[in-house]
Amino acid sequence: PTSIRKISEKHDKVFVTGCLEPQVHGPRANAAFVVLARNQEMEGIVQSIKSIERHFNRWFHYPYVFLNDGEFNSTFKEAVLNHTSSLVEWGKISPEMWGFPDWVDDAVAKEGIAKQGDAAIMYGGMESYHHMCRFYSGMFYKHELLQKYEWYWRLEPEIKYFCDITYDPFIHMIRNKKTYGFVIAVKELVETVPNIFRYASAYKRANNLTSKGLWEMFLERPETESEDLMGEKNIKKRLPLELANSKLGANTLPDIDPEAMEGEKYNMCHFWSNFEIANLNWLRSKEYNDFFEMMDRSGGFWMERASWGDAPIHSLAAGALLGVDDIHYFRDFGYRHTTIQHCPANAPDRQLPRIPYLEKTTLDEKKRIEEDDYWAHPDAPRENGVGCRCR
Ligand code: GDP
Ligand code: MN
Repeated sequence: PTSIRKISEKHDKVFVTGCLEPQVHGPRANAAFVVLARNQEMEGIVQSIKSIERHFNRWFHYPYVFLNDGEFNSTFKEAVLNHTSSLVEWGKISPEMWGFPDWVDDAVAKEGIAKQGDAAIMYGGMESYHHMCRFYSGMFYKHELLQKYEWYWRLEPEIKYFCDITYDPFIHMIRNKKTYGFVIAVKELVETVPNIFRYASAYKRANNLTSKGLWEMFLERPETESEDLMGEKNIKKRLPLELANSKLGANTLPDIDPEAMEGEKYNMCHFWSNFEIANLNWLRSKEYNDFFEMMDRSGGFWMERASWGDAPIHSLAAGALLGVDDIHYFRDFGYRHTTIQHCPANAPDRQLPRIPYLEKTTLDEKKRIEEDDYWAHPDAPRENGVGCRCR
């Protein structure tokens, strides 16, 4: 439709020019797919590999790094190798990167996790889930197999790409001086992270970091009369962490006086990290690791839910350390993970070319952004004919 065409012209060549031939002869980046998985996820992994190979990697041949806290068995390995011609490396995660660190009293942490099971919080009572979240938050990029790479693209079991990706997103990010790319942003369940923002905000203050414009993406708009998720009503949810924390033996906490948050409230938004293309050097930077360390020491990876997931950790780190220009929204990627998907064809035309909240916006503009269909629910109406070879 012309309306889409007109708006898109400036932004998304792919929507205007139609199907592109894969640009296979260009330079390659120093990059790999990173896949954390277990043997029992073989089928889901095969589905994901089939999808990314069919829609991208059969032309580009980026290698894969598989990581596991256990050993991959030969059935798993063969299944993967049957579906790609790329180099595949198999990595075992050492106990130092998986599980409880030295400074934690395992029994206290286990008890904290068990309590979450009682409260029927999704995944909360599952110890391995907490280890996974912590590993993806502050460990995977330190794995020896990743040292030689500068970029990674995260892949999970049971995901789907709908559209051919006919250009190299790594090269695209390098040329445009990007650090972190996402395709879906969602709101976290409040009970999973009652304290996360207080700590992230404390880190920002303790290091005298001023926002480069991205931090605001994670703030509740002041003029909204919304539920006081992080406020006094929920103080009970926050207090136990401090108590639990001293028991853990961590206690290297920064200023966590809620009064010092200068009225800022987390809006629960985060980049959904099951898809991620990012620069490993950023994750390896001192700033990022200081951030992780501080969050880690708070005990939140064990004493609070089903994550402090790596998604809000990566997102709030980006908010504290990066600017809007460092972020890329891959809104031309068709992508699905479990119940949430983003399809370029789903976005109503007036919204299609916008880069929600990544534009430097007025408050009025921000209000519209909130209503934006920047991530599309599977039930959202579909308009076909937009995007490149979507199927
Ligand atoms: P969800 O997307 O939040 O529901 O979490 P997933 O169950 O998909 O886990 C996220 C990623 O971590 C997936 O790639 C899983 O295969 C992987 N993963 C989760 N738990 C474990 C674990 O205990 N061991 C290993 N090796 N991988 C895990
Ligand atoms: Mn998943």
